[in-house]
Amino acid sequence: KLVIDQVGKSFPARHGGQATRALLPTSLSVADNDFITILGPSGCGKSTLLRMIGGLETPSEGRILLDGEPVIGPGADRGFVFQSYTLFPWLNVAENIAFGLREKGVAEAERLRIATDWAGRIGLRGFENHYPKQLSGGMQQRTAIARALANDPKILLLDEPFGALDNQTRALMQEMLLGIWEREQKTVLFVTHDVEEAIFMASRVVVISARPGRIKADIPVDLPHPRPYTIK
Ligand code: ATP
Ligand code: MG
Repeated sequence: KLVIDQVGKSFPARHGGQATRALLPTSLSVADNDFITILGPSGCGKSTLLRMIGGLETPSEGRILLDGEPVIGPGADRGFVFQSYTLFPWLNVAENIAFGLREKGVAEAERLRIATDWAGRIGLRGFENHYPKQLSGGMQQRTAIARALANDPKILLLDEPFGALDNQTRALMQEMLLGIWEREQKTVLFVTHDVEEAIFMASRVVVISARPGRIKADIPVDLPHPRPYTIK
C-alpha cells in the first residue's frame, strides 16, 4: 500500500523571484493493484507528484510511505517511465532492459534471460540487439517500460508515457500495459492529460485542479474484464 500524506512541493525562488508552489499538500491512499490515472491541466503538478513518489524529487512537506516505510530517493521497488524515452543510447534493447538488474548485481546470464523474456512479452522479440536509434518511438517506449518492469517493482510510475505516439501505436500500448497490469498485479500510477485515456485505462481516476494543484476528484472506474492481451 502506498500512502501519500499531505505531500506538497515548492520550488525555491531563483534570481530573487518568488518560490513556485508546484503542488499543494495532497493526500492519496493507493491500494495494491490499483491502476490510477492522474489527470489535470499543464503545470498542475502531475509530474512533480509522480517524481516525488519515484524519489526523483524531495517533498517540501508531508511524507510518502510504501508498505509503512518512508520513501527516500529512487529504488527498485518503483519503476519510472518518462514521456521522452530516455534510453541509454550506447546500450542495446536487452542491455537497456537489464540495466537495473546489473545495478542490483544480478549475474549476466540471468540478466539476459530476464531481458529476453521481457522483450518478448512487450512486443520486441527479435529486437534485443538493436540500439535505440534503430527503433521507432513506440519501440523505444516499449523498451523503457520493459526496463522499468524488469526490476519487478511494486509500483509502476508512468508520466505521459504514450503522449508522443500516434493513435494506433498508443492504442496498442494501452492494451499491452493493461494486459501486463492484470497479469503482474502491479500498482500503476499513470499521468496523462488525455481524458479518454484516463478513463479507459484506470480503475481509479484522480483529477488535479489547475496550478497550484490539489486533488479535485477521485473517481472509481469499472474496467471491463477480462481484457484481451494482444501484441500486433
Ligand atoms: P505538464 O502537463 O505540462 O507536464 P505537470 O502537471 O506535470 O504539467 P509539473 O511539471 O509537475 O506540472 O510542474 C508544476 C509546476 O511546478 C509548474 O508551474 C512548473 O513550472 C513548476 N516546476 C516544475 N519543476 C520545477 C523545477 N525544477 N523548478 C522550478 N519550478 C518547477
Ligand atoms: Mg508533466
